[in-house]
Amino acid sequence: MSPERSSIPFGEFKIDALLVSALPNIRYLSGFTGDHALLLVSPESLTLFTDPRFTIQASEECTCAVKTVTKGPLDTAAVAQIGRNRWKRIGFEASRMTYDVYLRIKTSLPLGATLKPVGSVIEKLRMIKSPEEVARIRKSVLTNSRAFAKAIPSMRTGISESAIAAEVEYQMRRFGAEKSAFDTIVAFGARSALPHARPTSGRLGNDELVLIDMGSCQDGYMSDMTRVLFHGRPSPRVRTMYNAVAKAQLAALDAVRAGVTAGHVDRQARKILEAEGLGKEFVHSTGHGLGLEIHEPPRLGKRDKTRLEAGMVITIEPGAYIRGFGGIRIEDTVLVTKTGCEILTPTSKELMLL
Ligand code: ZN
Ligand code: ZN
Repeated sequence: MSPERSSIPFGEFKIDALLVSALPNIRYLSGFTGDHALLLVSPESLTLFTDPRFTIQASEECTCAVKTVTKGPLDTAAVAQIGRNRWKRIGFEASRMTYDVYLRIKTSLPLGATLKPVGSVIEKLRMIKSPEEVARIRKSVLTNSRAFAKAIPSMRTGISESAIAAEVEYQMRRFGAEKSAFDTIVAFGARSALPHARPTSGRLGNDELVLIDMGSCQDGYMSDMTRVLFHGRPSPRVRTMYNAVAKAQLAALDAVRAGVTAGHVDRQARKILEAEGLGKEFVHSTGHGLGLEIHEPPRLGKRDKTRLEAGMVITIEPGAYIRGFGGIRIEDTVLVTKTGCEILTPTSKELMLL
């Protein structure tokens, strides 16, 4: 998509070339969307190594050099190229390369060449989205909200969590997603207190919470939204808890703008929930970046010092979870701007009654 090769800090890391093994990073730099590849990047060149199953696809998707490896592992072919170019210091993604690939490269590198871990260098570049990337995320967010709206009529007494998840994922594909961004979360009643609940065959009864956390993946880009509905008449306790989380979400949204730290945004949501007596029930961070992956830096955690910048796309999703009672989470996908943020998610945040 955006060949941001020129932004890779080869000098800062004192490396001659970078071996990229994470597929989303490979896609970001080369446009290749297949699921088996290795990318070797230097200040002057970009070479994609893949196997014959992807020869046609790679030639269609990539403008860089493509080498189809017919025999042996991709890394062996990459090492041969490192030798031919006499590159000495080779950066690699320590958190993304498997140990056996690391060992094989290490033992086969030409004399004098060394491997150097570089951390999440490409992920850092990916934090700031290009206008084309933002356009794709917008589309993905819209698809996701349309799928949600279309699935609401199916949410009736007796339907199972799994059936709602299936309906939601079917609708997102109908509206243009290639898949869901993650396994859709649907949780009824007390199960909504599990922030990452898996849908079960449990059926929707009267006077129950319905928590749905769903994301679409469209043109490779993710969206992420959580909404809570109520089947029946919500008790004052449900309403109070819902309003507290909604207030926390608005406070965090209000705090988002270029220049503030991710931790600052998290603390605004946390302050509200603490004041409402739900501080301990907020068991996760306020949000995360998203793009080619559903969870990307920055993380909006309590102590995170990353400064938000215009062009970042993040989620704002405070929640509160009470064992035996249920959980509330409200999540939007938002674009950070110079002066604030643009909430991309169009779906209403009122407590929806079924
Ligand atoms: Zn989510
Ligand atoms: Zn999320």
